[in-house]
Amino acid sequence: MTVNDKNDIKLLAIEMEKRYHHEFQEVSTYIFDHPELGGEEHLSSRYLGAYLNGHDFKVSFPYADMETAFIAEFGDDEGPVIGLLAEYDGLPGYHTENGNGHACGHNWIAATMCGIAVVLSKLKPYYKGKIKVIGTPAEETYGGKVDMIPKGAFAGVDVIFQAHLESATVIDSSALAMQSIQFEFTGKAAHAASFPEEGINALDAVQLMFMGVNSLRQHMKSDGRIHGIITEGGVATNIVPERGVCQMTIRAKERAYMEQLASRVVDCAKGAALITGCQLNHWNFENIFYDLVNVPKLMDLTKRHLESVGITNFLPKEMAPPPGSTDLGNVSYVCPTLYLEVDLEADVPLKVHSDEALRLVNSTFAFKKMQQVVLATVFSIMDLFQDATLLNDIKEEHASIMRRKAV
Ligand SMILES: [Zn+2]
Ligand SMILES: [Zn+2]
Repeated sequence: MTVNDKNDIKLLAIEMEKRYHHEFQEVSTYIFDHPELGGEEHLSSRYLGAYLNGHDFKVSFPYADMETAFIAEFGDDEGPVIGLLAEYDGLPGYHTENGNGHACGHNWIAATMCGIAVVLSKLKPYYKGKIKVIGTPAEETYGGKVDMIPKGAFAGVDVIFQAHLESATVIDSSALAMQSIQFEFTGKAAHAASFPEEGINALDAVQLMFMGVNSLRQHMKSDGRIHGIITEGGVATNIVPERGVCQMTIRAKERAYMEQLASRVVDCAKGAALITGCQLNHWNFENIFYDLVNVPKLMDLTKRHLESVGITNFLPKEMAPPPGSTDLGNVSYVCPTLYLEVDLEADVPLKVHSDEALRLVNSTFAFKKMQQVVLATVFSIMDLFQDATLLNDIKEEHASIMRRKAV
């Protein structure tokens, strides 16, 4: 086949996807059959590295000081750098051999990102630039990407792509910014009946803090969320509780408002400590997640190509399923990021983290969706490689959104 124009390159991409599709299915199946928890993805990360190495990618382990992270690179230094973020951590608590399962379909993410990378590697004569598949551990737990950012794991990448199977197709998906704080109040133990006047009650402090937070809740913007639990509140009823511990998770649509709320929650804790005379310690017990920054020009580009491969059932953001939080939000603060939620279109709507998801995320439905997403993403990336103005516009749009957010 002679390759003369954009359309010929598209046809070549379709041919390459067909040729290697069985491999992408094998990748998905291997990861699916070896479900490993966040930070323990040794088999999965090594397998993916070896697979990409077999297609002439230069693979490095560990990456960003993380044992189960990796980077696989292909291309030259004379053009744009495109990042494809693979996830491959599973979830605990399923009826499988080792009790873990890929109920969030991260096997599909890993295989789809590999698929995009491999097809692009076969089109190399027609662009200048580099593909980086970055293996990012522990999305479901501590959010490995958050720890990778300060190590420069995504530095120098111009645009990042990732996709996730869901029950609806949403291109402008959102994720809530989130901070989780542990509060420890220390009081003074005393006999609760004989010498109550000598006690300082740390459980009272915890309860007063919850009352403060409940009052705060009435006056939050509608996208604010605060949810908490009490993890320690005394050891016996006849001892004034010396130690009271609670955890609060604070979320909001945007990082800036989430931080405001978090500081008000800390004030509630300080107030409770003052009222009771307790000492207060607090710290973040999980990584802080940021909201997801969407870049309209990048969404338009990808949407156009998704439509061209038959994915047309886009749900408007307002109708999308309620968002959670993800470490990809933090990455989207660093560089333009396209995060696609794609409707699996199976026999029943996909509910991730359910038992039934295990039947669906490595099925023929999933492989069909993989083929469509691989092609649409390859077409989008080829446009970025070949159109410097488009790439610059996307980067500029991202920079201007970030400037607005900083105000
Ligand atoms: Zn999940
Ligand atoms: Zn997931």
